Amino acid sequence: MEFEALSSSELSAYLRSVPAVYALLNEPGETGDLDIAEVGDGNLNFVYFASNARAPERSVVVKQAPPFLRLVGKSWPLTRHRMEREVAALQRFGALCPQHVPRVYHADSDLFLMVMQRLSSHRILRQALMDGIVYPKLAAHLSTYLAHTLFYGSDLFLAPDVKKHAVSDAVNTELCKITEDLVFTYPFEDHPSNVYSPAFPRAEIERLRQSPALRLAVADMKWSFMNDAETLLHGDLHTGSIMVNEDETYVIDPEFAFYGPMGFDIGAVLANLLLAYFSRDWHDREQDTALQLHADGVPYRDWLLEQVSAVWSGFEKTFLKLWRVHESRRKSHFIGDDPGGVCVEAYRARFMRRLLAQSLGFAGCKMIRRIVGMAKVADITSIADHSLRAAVEVRVLRCAERLLVERDAIDGIAQVLAIAREAQAGGRAS
Ligand code: ADP
Ligand code: MG
Repeated sequence: MEFEALSSSELSAYLRSVPAVYALLNEPGETGDLDIAEVGDGNLNFVYFASNARAPERSVVVKQAPPFLRLVGKSWPLTRHRMEREVAALQRFGALCPQHVPRVYHADSDLFLMVMQRLSSHRILRQALMDGIVYPKLAAHLSTYLAHTLFYGSDLFLAPDVKKHAVSDAVNTELCKITEDLVFTYPFEDHPSNVYSPAFPRAEIERLRQSPALRLAVADMKWSFMNDAETLLHGDLHTGSIMVNEDETYVIDPEFAFYGPMGFDIGAVLANLLLAYFSRDWHDREQDTALQLHADGVPYRDWLLEQVSAVWSGFEKTFLKLWRVHESRRKSHFIGDDPGGVCVEAYRARFMRRLLAQSLGFAGCKMIRRIVGMAKVADITSIADHSLRAAVEVRVLRCAERLLVERDAIDGIAQVLAIAREAQAGGRAS
């Protein structure tokens, strides 16, 4: 049967029929009307707020997967079972990090629909960063979320058999294919889905396609994405999947979840902070906030770069702490007996160095796909001046290319900030 989005009255009637949800929306004994508003900014799915008409603070979010990719329409069919992936991931991440993941109240596997906690005083981080808002706790929250979700899903914590079953339970072939194509493949080819901004220099397109060092680095990252089943990932952790207010940070929308390389989620966060950084001059100019300083007197653009550093450093610290505490009660899974712990610590240091390099490689891929691929980000597309936008885009590409090509030689996050600043300043001659 042809898919039809639910009408307001159908959705109201449905929610009335689910006692657990109805109890959230109404006082005991109350049978008031529900207000339904469709709010999906709609890349993939339909998202609704359902609220008590007389007490709007009683409100939930309903999300339903249609059998296609909403952005493109029915010509791009997509499994509705992606909703099961999303629900399972929200539940798993919610168990690990309840303070950063919306609660799932109800899931319906026939309608491919779920009901979750409404984040009513939070906004999407991407827009908030475009508006120049400082969130003092953001980096600490994101690094906590990353450390906990990535550590507890991995072989550093799980028993080997449990981990292997978890890998197979989280297989997400269709959504992984989207990433394999749109992030790692099409942006580097002459592909019809690519979109270039009006003043984007032709020479840059050629450069992307014809730089062997870059193409090989991207191939390495694609291989890693497809083979390194290290932990349960969010799979699409850009700043449009993060909702914030002054005190809280939530990660939504994990329908791309699967077992993949840890650096893919970390790289997504870093890439999107860097996209905000490189587009900052335009937004400062638009809002006349160039002189607006954050509490410690740092320009907002620099604050954005500080977040890149703080997310990585906070992640590294928390991840290592979880690892050390876990192995303080048992011997290391990977080193085995090690009186004195010298090898264990050396292994941890090597692990983190490799993870930074992997994260930077994925960050580079994600930055490039947002410039030349099909799906853009508002940080960049909102730059109305064509030549200014193209200049920002070229800086993003320069930075991304260096992260990819130089990733194994980068020995700390400070070097990443230096590379970003050089790209922002017009880059070294290359
Ligand atoms: P899609 O899978 O289509 O990308 P999202 O999960 O990103 O859908 O949700 C689309 C939009 O709906 C978000 O950008 C956000 O504005 C809103 N939204 C999603 N989940 C919540 C929530 N739990 N609370 C409040 N708003 C939400
Ligand atoms: Mg989304």
